[in-house]
Amino acid sequence: MLRVREWLVMTETPEYDPATSASNAILAAFDFSTKLQGSRMHALPPCPQCHSTFTYEDAGMYICPECAHEWSAQTSAASEPAAKVYRDSAGNILQDGDTVTVIKDLKLKGGGGVVKMGTKVKNIRLVDADHDIDCKIDGFGAMSLKTEFVKKA
Ligand SMILES: [Zn+2]
Repeated sequence: MLRVREWLVMTETPEYDPATSASNAILAAFDFSTKLQGSRMHALPPCPQCHSTFTYEDAGMYICPECAHEWSAQTSAASEPAAKVYRDSAGNILQDGDTVTVIKDLKLKGGGGVVKMGTKVKNIRLVDADHDIDCKIDGFGAMSLKTEFVKKA
């Protein structure tokens, strides 16, 4: 905590804004604690062969000094965040290129007409947005739909 407080003092500038400064301090504290956790998590794993805890790291490899076992440090690195899973109204997993059916009449904004229930939509593209399907519908052109209003065909 002491270090965070020092940081606060150091960043107080003439155009000191208490609101921003406070949230910056929270961010800094958060960053600081993540770093602490991060360094703890980087403790070297025990040897998978003899369970020795004297593992050391060399050029991306973990090496056990007791049984001379070497293994890649890569495998224990944090894995990629899981990709977002998109599900239709029935809970089926959707993927890019899928064909879906619209499950209810969807009124388009600005008097653009209605996409009728049962309309087939081919070759959808999933996007990370409120309307998470980008697609083209015959007679309507490019548009965005919500996964909750479609069902995998
Ligand atoms: Zn070992």
